[in-house]
Amino acid sequence: MSFALDHLGVAVRSLADAKAIYQKIGLPLSSEEVVPAENVRVVFVPIGETRIELLEPTSDDSVIAKFIARRGEGLHHISIRVPNLETAVQKLQSGGTRLVSDEIKIGAGGHRYIFIHPSSSSGVLIELVEASD
Ligand code: ZN
Repeated sequence: MSFALDHLGVAVRSLADAKAIYQKIGLPLSSEEVVPAENVRVVFVPIGETRIELLEPTSDDSVIAKFIARRGEGLHHISIRVPNLETAVQKLQSGGTRLVSDEIKIGAGGHRYIFIHPSSSSGVLIELVEASD
């Protein structure tokens, strides 16, 4: 197990609209999945060893809805797969890295994740996920 770029998260107003460009390019798309905890509907676009995650808000309270209201549609986060999430989080916390939440959360497809606050990562919201194999 090693590190990898798991996916790129893109905030979109409409999955139906956002999917079109990837379909035109000829990429396959996953089926839509709702993540109630994050108030989003998600589609994954697999590309080689990584994926694009299209995130459409399902409510105005959604973090994605607020992002789009503030900054418009576009790249929201990058996601890095790590061999052991607990170890990574401990290292970051003991080094004073600011995390968006103190606890590891469960997301689309049951994967475990945590976000590093952009103030600790040169303006990039970084999602850490754990290798599932
Ligand atoms: Zn993500």
